[in-house]
Amino acid sequence: MALDVPRELLEKHDKPGPRYTSYPTVPAWTSGFGEDDYRAALRELAARPDDELSVYLHLPFCAKHCHYCGCNAVVSTEKGAVDAYLDRVERELAAVVDVLGPGRRVVQLHWGGGTPNFLKDPQVERALGLLRAAFAVDPRGEVSIEVDPRIGTPEQARFLRAQGFNRISLGVQDFEPAVQKAIGRLQKRDRTLELYHACREAGFEGVNLDLVYGLPEQTRDSFAHTLRDIIEQGPDRVACFSYAHVPWVRPRQKLINTDNMPSGFEKFELFRLAIDLFAEAGYDWIGIDHFARRDDELAVALRERRLHRNFMGYTTRPAPHMLAFGMSGIGDVCDRFVQNDAELDGYQATVDAGRLPVVKGHRLSDDDRLRRLAILNLMCNLELPYALTVPGFGAPADELLADGLARLLPYRDEGFVEFLPDRVRVTDLGRFFVRNLCMEFDAYLDRTSEKPLFSKTI
Ligand code: SF4
Repeated sequence: MALDVPRELLEKHDKPGPRYTSYPTVPAWTSGFGEDDYRAALRELAARPDDELSVYLHLPFCAKHCHYCGCNAVVSTEKGAVDAYLDRVERELAAVVDVLGPGRRVVQLHWGGGTPNFLKDPQVERALGLLRAAFAVDPRGEVSIEVDPRIGTPEQARFLRAQGFNRISLGVQDFEPAVQKAIGRLQKRDRTLELYHACREAGFEGVNLDLVYGLPEQTRDSFAHTLRDIIEQGPDRVACFSYAHVPWVRPRQKLINTDNMPSGFEKFELFRLAIDLFAEAGYDWIGIDHFARRDDELAVALRERRLHRNFMGYTTRPAPHMLAFGMSGIGDVCDRFVQNDAELDGYQATVDAGRLPVVKGHRLSDDDRLRRLAILNLMCNLELPYALTVPGFGAPADELLADGLARLLPYRDEGFVEFLPDRVRVTDLGRFFVRNLCMEFDAYLDRTSEKPLFSKTI
């Protein structure tokens, strides 16, 4: 992409903002939403038996903490910790199925963490068995897992495939040893690639690699080296996440020496490099931070303006509801967002007490639903049709969202959006600022906080 993105424009618009895996975003949710509210949502879902589901299982255990980690991870030396955790997942599943009824159709099943492949093979079998006993997982559905190559093996990859996982994501971050040392995650390139090729041979339908830019010690040259190496392997999709340095939210990040950490325009140039190299290699830029081969279904969905996004990332197979299990799991059920306890002890104690481990949530108002749809359209499909329809609304979106649309006018003058007769379209330049555009529709954003919860635009 030969497009010039002027430095002064980037610096002007470089402000903290959400990545909008949900709207409203988690900081707007409250602890006033609890177990009773979640049960009410589940009862509503029980009354809609034909609605399809996505299911997320959080497996928090890791071999060792990485300094940069922004996930809800647990390092435990306690023998039997994983089995004890799966006992609680089993109880949580039973409690949900008790309200919902058994055999609900699941079209997307995802295991995240933590490190899901920290589980031993019999534990994987057990957890999958619990999920399959609770739900009817569509044989054509997406069954995906995140894997840490430092503990993954070719045998494990073959085992996971044989168990029915059809998509796998390997965490790479960066191949450069100096970067790995700075983030407390030493990971041999050869071992990662051995696992990658084993996944290919095992027949996964999608093998994805995850990178992070903006890490300490990353330079343009070093990151170019990692990117070229990655491209040569030909992954189906690559996520290239922006490192968010927020030690006031993630205290472990205090271990990171920020002396040589790229920020501002320097950090943007790393991402720009990824965009250019992936484009040259035949990948399309998806949403804010993903790349997919041009024939991959995500890239096709973007061209056809039918891409979606949920807590698991970009998807072509949206289910109207997402159930989450395990510590810190986040669900989206009948217009309620719900989050489980993010502390292992709290999660387990609540399940042991026979309750659902909900600690916060949010019930979406009609206004929330409309703004969510507007933000989703901008984030995924880079446009906002005026005729968006949300059940319950009589008026067209351009009347209901007049405040946000008016706030887009200055961006039109900067060349970020075009106002067409039937929609607002994000331009090639505007793609770099899509989070800024979405923030104009966010009715909850705290525009005054000195210690932001979100990373900056670049
Ligand atoms: S980055 Fe991944 S492997 Fe490292 S601590 Fe976090 S969840 Fe665990």
